[in-house]
Amino acid sequence: MNVYDSNRMVDLLRPLGYKVTDEAEKADVLILNTCHIRDKATEKVFSELGRLRQIKEYREKQGQPTLIAVAGCVAQAEGKIIVQRAPYVDVVLGPQTYHRLPKMILEAARKSGNVIETDFPTESKFDFLPAPEKAQGHTAFLTIQEGCDKFCSFCVVPYTRGAEESRPVQAIIDEATRLCELGVKDISLLGQNVNAYHGQGPDGNIWDLVKLAEKLSTIPGLSRIRYTTSHPNDMSDALIAAHRDLPTLMPFLHLPVQSGSDRVLKAMNRGHTVKEYYEIIDKLKKARPDIALSSDFIIGHPGESIEDFKATMKLVHDITFAQAFSFKYSPRPGTSAAISANQVAEPEKDARLQELQAVLKDQLTQFNHEMIGRKIPVLFTHKGRKEGQIGGKSPYLQAVHAQGDESLIGQEHMVEIDECMTFSLSGSLVKESTSH
Ligand code: SAH
Ligand code: SF4
Repeated sequence: MNVYDSNRMVDLLRPLGYKVTDEAEKADVLILNTCHIRDKATEKVFSELGRLRQIKEYREKQGQPTLIAVAGCVAQAEGKIIVQRAPYVDVVLGPQTYHRLPKMILEAARKSGNVIETDFPTESKFDFLPAPEKAQGHTAFLTIQEGCDKFCSFCVVPYTRGAEESRPVQAIIDEATRLCELGVKDISLLGQNVNAYHGQGPDGNIWDLVKLAEKLSTIPGLSRIRYTTSHPNDMSDALIAAHRDLPTLMPFLHLPVQSGSDRVLKAMNRGHTVKEYYEIIDKLKKARPDIALSSDFIIGHPGESIEDFKATMKLVHDITFAQAFSFKYSPRPGTSAAISANQVAEPEKDARLQELQAVLKDQLTQFNHEMIGRKIPVLFTHKGRKEGQIGGKSPYLQAVHAQGDESLIGQEHMVEIDECMTFSLSGSLVKESTSH
């Protein structure tokens, strides 16, 4: 979501004459877009700010005014602390106020002192964002829902991104249509609880994710739709059925479970049991037998015993994941778990995480190896590093390379996989391939 937000900030600043540079030394405005989901984020921000300060000082000695802005969830949570500790920061803005960035930049350029906007505004930023002018390639992110009302014990999102809000359907269709006109074929719909999407439809009714995805599927050029991140409680039967009925929905689902222990799930306030998670997965596999799964795990949530951890390992062995993100529990300010007296010792968390990650890594390798001999559709997105090679993405977001003409970039073609490397697959184009 931060990648999406950063791109939108670029769109916002373009009318002011700014464009993106890869070299910080050349930038008139340096924006640090931050994440607050786990700890050390704040420290990382300050060490990065130290580096940006040097650039700012160096540039200003050359007579080139330079502004530093801190955006995102660290800015939201710690705005005042940021300007106290780093008074050379000119602009601080939260994730819901970045539509005001042009105005803030102009204001900061005019006056000395900082401009801070971290209140949750009554207006929606989305109403003020210009249509994207440039796509980054053939794949794109599109935020359709933001914020969260679920208040899991460990999570800072409801405090930093704010309450759950779904964008209206028409605004999403317009943005997706624009992206497709710019050459995008594969869109990842984003939201902290994306499958809880319930936006105002053009017919005056509330639309769910299924109806939205069906409508998006009619946009010319859009051949792949993904959505992330989903909560198990919002995995409706209709959405599961859409994985059977809607060919544009990719057979790859990120469905975080966090823990395989009912006791921990309860302490986390996740609102579902392990059995219910298994049932969802069963239904998904029945609806779409080739579906692959991805998940998030938190290891060492307060009160997690060794038995609880073993239950998580059992779940991982039972379900098997094509990909997964696993984290040590990290106490977040303002969350209920952070003040629990039953914190798990760091070395214990480390040991459990290592054990889990070893199995997840094996499962990922196994999943990739199983692709050998299979014919899969690949959306080609770029030139490969080797002569005559092109690269793209499988439905499962695996990087795939094949020998092929550059003219195929931007198209989807069948590839027979013959080799599996650590981070990518390679294969050859199948002759009677279908293109979209
Ligand atoms: N809405 C999604 C998760 C969004 S946060 C869901 O409900 O599953 C992304 C991931 O960050 C979470 O799935 C969780 O695994 C991880 N995470 C969030 N807070 C964390 C914390 N305090 N410590 C460690 N990992 C955390
Ligand atoms: Fe955080 Fe996800 Fe829980 Fe919301 S549902 S509080 S975003 S972990």
